[in-house]
Amino acid sequence: QEDLFKNVVSHAKEYGFIFQSSEIYDGLSAVYDYAQNGVELKKNIRDYWWKSMVQMHENIVGIDAAIFMHPTTWKASGHVDAFNDPLIDNKDSKKRYRADVLIEDYAEKLNQKAQKEIEKARTRFGEAFDEAQFVSTNPRVVEYLSKKNEILQRMARGLESGDLADVKALIEELEIADPETGSKNWTEVRQFNLMFGTKLGASADSAMDLYLRPETAQGIFVNFLNVQKTGRMKIPFGIAQTGKAFRNEIVARQFIFRMREFEQMEMQFFVKPGEEMKYYEYWKETRLKWHLSLGLGKENYRFHDHEKLAHYANAAADIEFNFPFGFKELEGIHSRTDFDLKAHEEFSGKKLQYFDTEENKNYVPYVVETSVGLDRMFLAVFSKALQEETLEDGSTRTVLRLPSVLAPTKAAVLPLVKKDGLPEVARQIIEDLKWDFNVAYDEKDAVGRRYRRQDALGTPFCITVDHQTLEDQTVTIRHRDSMQQDRVKIEELRGIINNEVSM
Ligand code: ATP
Repeated sequence: QEDLFKNVVSHAKEYGFIFQSSEIYDGLSAVYDYAQNGVELKKNIRDYWWKSMVQMHENIVGIDAAIFMHPTTWKASGHVDAFNDPLIDNKDSKKRYRADVLIEDYAEKLNQKAQKEIEKARTRFGEAFDEAQFVSTNPRVVEYLSKKNEILQRMARGLESGDLADVKALIEELEIADPETGSKNWTEVRQFNLMFGTKLGASADSAMDLYLRPETAQGIFVNFLNVQKTGRMKIPFGIAQTGKAFRNEIVARQFIFRMREFEQMEMQFFVKPGEEMKYYEYWKETRLKWHLSLGLGKENYRFHDHEKLAHYANAAADIEFNFPFGFKELEGIHSRTDFDLKAHEEFSGKKLQYFDTEENKNYVPYVVETSVGLDRMFLAVFSKALQEETLEDGSTRTVLRLPSVLAPTKAAVLPLVKKDGLPEVARQIIEDLKWDFNVAYDEKDAVGRRYRRQDALGTPFCITVDHQTLEDQTVTIRHRDSMQQDRVKIEELRGIINNEVSM
């Protein structure tokens, strides 16, 4: 698993998907740049989301709100007071950690111990193994799992009540050590706000303190009535948006999984109060189906229903994905009640109400939101697509089995040799196809090596022009996944590619 993750990071760099930001200055931690192929993959994921949410839903429209918002927005949303991580410093190493992550890691180790026992028993008992029975009766497993739950519950209680001394006591009691140095000499736990601050205006005394938005959702809430009125939207309806968000994450590891500057794809769905649970269930299912439609394997997704809810929610679930480092949150679906709109009414003094013509009354709608990180989607797709294959002849190939609809380049056109007019024919094919698809030209190296290069980039088709092409206007088309090659007419290419790559 660790090796797989290393491969993902190095493949992303070597093939021009993702570079460390400001690499020549040794990089900036948890900030990344999308390279020539990465930017295409990222755009295709965004488009795939946008099409399914906006184009396919008559009652969902999009907006693109500014990153800068009036600072009162973040008071109303609760981010000034409550968007905090509990931090702890190690006095010896001077390293800073998230207290909750240290505790979660400890709990996860207990969980892994339990899983190991379960796996051992499974091999021992074979077919007859009853996992549920074993988990509830084996003393060691019971002990590991109940200890794990107790720890997580105590942590949640401490964080919720704001009693951070309890959180520190838990760390001491468990004798959790600095993961890098082993030291157990900890400071108090304190809250740290995740928003980046900046200033608007030039003169020192009149400059206004601003925040870079930590989520895109608030741009939708403050525009709710503008969109509803000008779009003559009827409840239930949604507003969708994709865009950058910024968080001063302390535990910034795991590549593009947790970044300081990242992109979200969010949709807020406005419903009649009392109907939110119906739509919450609807969006949970609908979003899971969207993920499954990419064909990365059903077993890689699971729901995690939240017991501990954020201050604005009355129900929340994550769609978790099996990343190279285990199941982690990919998307959140939240029933946010009327918390945000009510808060903006209160802080702005403006009404944010909907007039329901059927009921003949005004109300503040409830909101169900779906929120997925674009970069996390990228990591999910990229890490599952990256595969090492052993072929029939014993050789290996690296292939990026991206869903074709998301592939950065849809086809590469390759003249078999660099002479006899073959490059010219290849260029003509490109001239024709490039109106509809991203297509690449490659004439360097033996054709087998060129195939492998395109496999590693995730290109679904290679089109090879050879001498026969000059006689009968046919080419070979090679499929990335099966490596099967078919002889087809040039004029059929557009249809074949389109069939495979269209949404
Ligand atoms: P986490 O628990 O992993 O910090 P979160 O619960 O704070 O995530 P939300 O505030 O619900 O996340 O944001 C919605 C989505 O935005 C997440 O599901 C995730 O895909 C994405 N996201 C959040 N923070 C980051 C980040 N620092 N880097 C990349 N994506 C992020």
